[in-house]
Amino acid sequence: MKKIALLGSTGSIGTQTLDIVRHQRERFAVTALSAGANTDLIIRQALEFRPSIVSVATKELAADVAPYMPAGTRVVYGDEGLIEVAAGTDADTVVTAIMGSRGLSATLAAIAEGKAIGLANKETLVTAGHIVMSRAKEKGISIIPIDSEHSAIFQCLNGEPRSGVHGITLTASGGSFRDRTRAQLEGVTVAEALSHPNWSMGAKITIDSATMVNKGLEVIEARWLFGLTYDQIGVLIHPESIIHSYVEFVDRSIVAQLGMPDMRVPIQYALTYPERHDTPSARLDLAAIGKLHFREMDFERYPCLRMAFDCGRLGHSAPAVYNAANEVAVDRFLKGEITFLDIERILETVLERHTLFEINDLESIAEADEWARRLAATV
Ligand code: MG
Repeated sequence: MKKIALLGSTGSIGTQTLDIVRHQRERFAVTALSAGANTDLIIRQALEFRPSIVSVATKELAADVAPYMPAGTRVVYGDEGLIEVAAGTDADTVVTAIMGSRGLSATLAAIAEGKAIGLANKETLVTAGHIVMSRAKEKGISIIPIDSEHSAIFQCLNGEPRSGVHGITLTASGGSFRDRTRAQLEGVTVAEALSHPNWSMGAKITIDSATMVNKGLEVIEARWLFGLTYDQIGVLIHPESIIHSYVEFVDRSIVAQLGMPDMRVPIQYALTYPERHDTPSARLDLAAIGKLHFREMDFERYPCLRMAFDCGRLGHSAPAVYNAANEVAVDRFLKGEITFLDIERILETVLERHTLFEINDLESIAEADEWARRLAATV
């Protein structure tokens, strides 16, 4: 029986992770869950999966949910609650499906306890890639990616020596506005931005797909996960999201991973690795799909992706600033305060005004994060 602690259980990846558990009760148990403010759902999840710890965002929310918890479930809250979920049970694997930079200290706490990480929190490696990877290496624990692109690369690299890798290519659907020109992006609405053609995901990541910030964060993550240089990482537009990403080896052979766009496959693989088991996902029928399409990434059309490569190459505080400024900009767009194109304008302005500094610990990451948030809220 594999024991799982789940950070971010009420979000898109969180609920799909529990769907996998639900289909394979004999294989998995849930030891701890964390949610933000979705109290109805966390109560239902606690009653169904009976974890020993449940964490919610605040003390007030903890008091709200406590009366409905099953016997034996302790309710905690806030940043300390997240750490308890990540490190305070006998879980073998911690799935980090929580959004934003709050996932970082919880992930580090789980690593310190020697737990394997099923990584779905992008900010962890974007803001603190070198810290997280070196601590994981010290502890000898595996970080198994859950994001579809990184899971694809992870599957393609299985057992291959790194010296044989020429480079990797992350595929990108192009997001909800992929068929629009830059001029046609003027005045697009929040609702239009939120309708993604292939994947059903949370609001923030759907906007990040439309701006290509999501792919930018994935590029930086891939650099850390697979120990590559930025010159070894490419991005290709592939509207169907059937090829989830691929590796080119030095002999020019390419190994790709294909499947229907269904996050439950990479989630389950992260939980059962190196084993494979049946999933509730639909089978890929290439004959029914008939054609797959590809086009070259256009860095003029998607300047946020260019900025991500720039920040990745700069290193130090730049990726944390990129990430934090984007979080604020997306939040402002979703609230109707700014236009869609303002997101990239804010990113550009914040990065231009940033003076790079070294990142050695969580405090310096927090400093970069706070600096970028303050500026992104006002420009
Ligand atoms: Mg992805």
